[in-house]
Amino acid sequence: MRQPIVAGNWKMYGDRASSAKLVDAIVAGLDDKTARVQVLVCPPAVLIPHVAAKIRDTEVGLGGQNLSEHDGGAYTGEISGSMLADAGCTYCIVGHSERRAYYGESSALVAAKFDAAQRNGLIPILCVGESLDEREADRTESVIAGQLDAVLAETGVAAFASAVVAYEPVWAIGTGRTAAPEQAQEVHLFIRQRIASSSRSVAEGLRLLYGGSVKPENAEGLFAQDDIDGGLIGGASLKADQFLEVCAACMNVHGASR
Ligand code: PEP
Repeated sequence: MRQPIVAGNWKMYGDRASSAKLVDAIVAGLDDKTARVQVLVCPPAVLIPHVAAKIRDTEVGLGGQNLSEHDGGAYTGEISGSMLADAGCTYCIVGHSERRAYYGESSALVAAKFDAAQRNGLIPILCVGESLDEREADRTESVIAGQLDAVLAETGVAAFASAVVAYEPVWAIGTGRTAAPEQAQEVHLFIRQRIASSSRSVAEGLRLLYGGSVKPENAEGLFAQDDIDGGLIGGASLKADQFLEVCAACMNVHGASR
């Protein structure tokens, strides 16, 4: 049975006052409509302790947006997995397309970060996805296979038993353009089959999230697909009412179980 997840990626937005307001509203709005869904927030690193204090004793989980591949040392400006765990995180996003595109993170580096997250007791949320050019050149599957295979080569398939994969087509992130549910499902199935070629049981238990302009209006259609177990939400996670509606849509679809 795969527990659905809705994770909010706050990106580089907010301060202590606005994040307190946002997280308080999320906590207040969660009820039995969202009970089976693991709800996560991933604030900017400096806000993590502040948000951690706010969600203590609630069902809301906490994740980092990025981490170093190193566990400690002379790496100015970096944050290690153990620091995130110590601050209260249980998850960490790795390989978000913005990090791949703007900070030159290669699939090999992303694989090292995935491993670093797990070494430090964090569940990595591995982001994979193709650009518009790659999709138009019919390279979606080969791009995603390459991104997955880099991690499989570093960690082995067993590591995916305690990981989450988020399919985020680059052309849908922050653009208002969402993949059609069937388009997203096709790629999710491809990801599950790719993992299944190494381990069927790991693939069956692996939670696959969709990310890319998910909003209350399109969430249910996406989450209803067989291989979509929740979402990684950017813009709509910064508005409590929208985020809560997305969580409720996930619960509507996955309420019974999968
Ligand atoms: C994201 O930041 O991972 C994301 C999916 O953003 P948005 O929902 O705004 O497209």
